[in-house]
Amino acid sequence: YLKSQQKGCEEVGIEFQLEQMAKETTEQELIRFIEEKNKDERISGIILQMPLPPQINAERVQAVIDPAKDVEGVNPENMGMLVYGKPKLAPCTALSVMELIKSTGTSIKGLQVTVVGHSSIVGKPLALLLLSSPFESATTTVCHIATRDLASHTRKADILIVAVGKAGLIKGEMIKEDAIVIDVGVNQVEGKIVGDVVFEEAKEKASLITPVPGGVGPVTTAMLLRNTIQAWKIGLGILVGSEQSKLTSL
Ligand code: NAD
Repeated sequence: YLKSQQKGCEEVGIEFQLEQMAKETTEQELIRFIEEKNKDERISGIILQMPLPPQINAERVQAVIDPAKDVEGVNPENMGMLVYGKPKLAPCTALSVMELIKSTGTSIKGLQVTVVGHSSIVGKPLALLLLSSPFESATTTVCHIATRDLASHTRKADILIVAVGKAGLIKGEMIKEDAIVIDVGVNQVEGKIVGDVVFEEAKEKASLITPVPGGVGPVTTAMLLRNTIQAWKIGLGILVGSEQSKLTSL
């Protein structure tokens, strides 16, 4: 993901600076470092690369990133705006899924959308984006590790989104005929990258399906670049409300 961020920035003309800190860095040192970057007017976006060493609590550090520079949409203020249905900078993977749906030309209004996975960075923000319009939201079901009879929820989905991290979790028989299937999962199996959906089976049932690799991932990087441009505009005070909602809604 880091390499594709770097390459994507180069391609569109955004200067990308990688700041590597020692693995013994304390949380306070990292927080002070981010606070400096918050004040630096030449910087439009800040990404906290994962994973972090054990002495650092990611949520506490993410809370320090200036919400206007939070291009990954991980600061509590940006997460909170999702609940209001007024996202400013939303998590890139969730935006990527919304963009992929939009590219099909299908309106989500009233459709049954099932999201499998409820992490704070993918499943939950995605569910909130699917619900963000007062009158045109999807009917959204969120499944997770404690869900009973997963197949009963996936089988009714007009759009099925899977973000779990378990290869082979979603088999062909769990998919509704002609559904749109978006596979967010990234798993390594015998040296190969695969998703959470059994692609060969699913493609026989689905009307449209994203491959892994090459589906959600590249669009996620594109959303990071879009968020960065958006953050730059926020910084300059030139992003107006209507442009903001155009960028984040379907
Ligand atoms: P996570 O581990 O934080 O969350 C996993 C979710 O799956 C949880 O909500 C859990 O309850 C649920 N789950 C686990 N087992 C389940 C089961 N048997 N049935 C139903 N639900 C189950 O993971 P994450 O950070 O949300 O990432 C999920 C996957 O998406 C991973 O494979 C990750 O690599 C991938 N990912 C891809 C991108 C991308 O841009 N392509 C970005 C982020 C994450």
